[in-house]
Amino acid sequence: MHFHKPISLDEAIALLAGDAGAMPLAGGATLVAMMNAELIEPNALVSLGAIDELKAVKSAAGGDVRIGAMVSHTELATSEQLVGGHAVVRRAASLIAHPTVRNIGTIGGAVAHGDPSSDLLPALVAADAVIEAAGSAGRRDIAAEDFFEDYLTTTLAEGEVVAAVRLPKSPVGATGVYEKFTRVHGDYATLSVAVMLAMKGGNCSFVRIALGAAGPKPIRVKAAEALLIGSELDGEAIAAASQLLAEASDPVDDVRGSADYRLILVPRLLSRALANARSQVEGAA
Ligand SMILES: Cc1cc2nc3c(=O)[nH]c(=O)nc-3n(C[C@H](O)[C@H](O)[C@H](O)COP(=O)(O)OP(=O)(O)OC[C@H]3O[C@@H](n4cnc5c(N)ncnc54)[C@H](O)[C@@H]3O)c2cc1C
Repeated sequence: MHFHKPISLDEAIALLAGDAGAMPLAGGATLVAMMNAELIEPNALVSLGAIDELKAVKSAAGGDVRIGAMVSHTELATSEQLVGGHAVVRRAASLIAHPTVRNIGTIGGAVAHGDPSSDLLPALVAADAVIEAAGSAGRRDIAAEDFFEDYLTTTLAEGEVVAAVRLPKSPVGATGVYEKFTRVHGDYATLSVAVMLAMKGGNCSFVRIALGAAGPKPIRVKAAEALLIGSELDGEAIAAASQLLAEASDPVDDVRGSADYRLILVPRLLSRALANARSQVEGAA
């Protein structure tokens, strides 16, 4: 097996384009485990670890934040640039597994792998993130909501890599919270809820919600958000929104919980996430 360590993204793309059996290597947290378990057998690994362009978190003047694909979960969890509504991504990263995994795993690897139990996926949908993909045909932007297609399946084309994840400016006064329910500390989510919220005069003026581990990809229901906007986030509005989210969910039965149990968690985690978000925005006002 060949191992390449290019120093530019163009070089990495050329190496991947030249060998259909080559795979990009980020931290190897999942890739190496899959190779050890003989689930995959790449001809070559193209490490992205020496490409400077992929390593930075940069804030733009307009309020956007651009996160390079090789930024680790630890760097995200401690980033001072992820404030306001963008804190949903920082908080999700801080709850991934434990420090060893957070030091190795990267946002690009998590996004490309497309595991619906990943903590970052619902947070990126709640943040309305854009995935910047790069391949031999050029670069393109894909909305996070459209990027995740199915279980471990994304819209990334053969030979394309995730170059960065861009978070558009979050609404003024917004906050982002992430609630994760696990069997034990450090486990993958049984269910998770990512919320970006803003309030005005005691009523919800903006909300975006995405569920994790509730189906083959992050679950977002715009009609559920519409029920909350303008409301005081009272129990009735939250119950109605939860109902729509649960109806759109398609969770699995696995060791982390049954599908029915996951659906029971939807209103509970959503209530908790909205209460936390509300107290943060009202505390900051
Ligand atoms: C023990 C353990 C516990 C974990 N617990 C959690 C958890 O609680 N929550 C959670 O969210 N995650 C969890 N993870 C996942 C982890 O956080 C990483 O996000 C994930 O393993 C990806 O790792 P990586 O970035 O090293 O990518 P790699 O393992 O290097 O790559 C993963 C896949 O993505 C491809 N790839 C990598 N980078 C790119 C790129 N830039 N462009 C295109 N394709 C690319 C690779 O070819 C491979 O197919 C856990 C992982 C482990 C091993």
